[in-house]
Amino acid sequence: MKENFDFLMPSVNFFGKGVIKKIGDRAKMLHMTKPLIVTDKFLRGMDNGPVAQTLDSLDAAGVSYVIFDGVEPNPKIRNIQAAKQVYLDNDCDSIITVGGGSSHDCGKGTGIILTNGDDITKLAGIETLENPLPPLMAVNTTAGTASELTRHCVITNEKTKLKFVVVSWRNIPLVSFNDPMLELDVPAAMTAATGMDTFVQSIEPYVSTNRNEITDGQCIEAIKLCEESLREAVANGHNLEARTKMVEAEMLGGMAFNNADLGYVHAMAHQLGGQYDAPHGVCCAMLLPIVEEYNLVACPERFAELAKAMGENTDGLSTRDAAELAIKAMRQMADDVHIPRSIKAIGAKPEDFELMAENALKDGNAFSNPRKGTKEEIVQ
Ligand code: NAD
Repeated sequence: MKENFDFLMPSVNFFGKGVIKKIGDRAKMLHMTKPLIVTDKFLRGMDNGPVAQTLDSLDAAGVSYVIFDGVEPNPKIRNIQAAKQVYLDNDCDSIITVGGGSSHDCGKGTGIILTNGDDITKLAGIETLENPLPPLMAVNTTAGTASELTRHCVITNEKTKLKFVVVSWRNIPLVSFNDPMLELDVPAAMTAATGMDTFVQSIEPYVSTNRNEITDGQCIEAIKLCEESLREAVANGHNLEARTKMVEAEMLGGMAFNNADLGYVHAMAHQLGGQYDAPHGVCCAMLLPIVEEYNLVACPERFAELAKAMGENTDGLSTRDAAELAIKAMRQMADDVHIPRSIKAIGAKPEDFELMAENALKDGNAFSNPRKGTKEEIVQ
């Protein structure tokens, strides 16, 4: 547990039904005269969807804008290069990201190469950015990665198939928007994948070596909210209460990992995502029970606490038995929202394991895992 720490999050975070209407005024307050809207084609095409509602608010406030809709899932270097070109060609002065983690990371990556040099691969790592990004706001539409409030920018190098992370306080958006009304139409499979990402992001910081008392409280509350609402949000997407609770969980888990870091689930999920272009939440969910079963011996008392937060009855059990209930509950959650158990489902091939294991151990998220593993253990 860390006793001295810095705690980072955006300075303004709008949360709740209808908050998207505030974005036009906030853009004016930030003196944004021509933001680049960074999003994907699907969201741009949605009738009265998150992009349309963002544009309505900007129009009402008299703020002009330019749209880049070329974000791909697991955003690639080619996406941030293309977005940068549109920004420069149109004399933009700021960025607004609309979407899930892919849109936010693409927007952050675009900002990074606009002000910190064109080769983003050289900036992978922690606090490598010398210059501030252009002013950036993030409208979030999945619950979710929490990229709208984190210092992380995750980009895939399409040539090497490696996902890498630029971690810097400079990446944190100035303002985040989390309006659960924007999430009512997220399809069930995507709700499950993104919701499991939130669940994992609430568990890994709780057993991280960089945790603190604030992040502990956030993790426990986020896990309880996931337990109450994730299954319901997957089964009944239009249940606003379930969606709202998942947004709360997402923000809490996001604040927690932004400050306490993650672990091997994310370090390994980045390898699967980069290699096979698979959905990030699915990769995390498949790995979660296996990695945490491995981690259990490092801090069984923490896992026993997690079991309680997951609603398990641990009365009268030994710490070890209680801790094992947490692993069982993680597996049950993934099964209930129909996440496949085997990484074969995303096309993983044994011949790639060794290289992926090597790279996982170099991923920034590996350093805060509670148990230190070898390459052989990661392969296993
Ligand atoms: P995503 O952004 O790739 O979106 C997935 C799909 O959902 C897209 O096709 C999108 O069009 C659709 N979608 C998004 N919002 C929708 C809505 N409201 N209604 C209907 N469809 C909608 O998925 P994601 O899981 O949010 O982001 C994954 C990316 O984020 C990965 O690259 C991952 O590595 C990264 N990530 C970043 C951080 C960070 O802190 N920067 C943390 C975790 C993960």
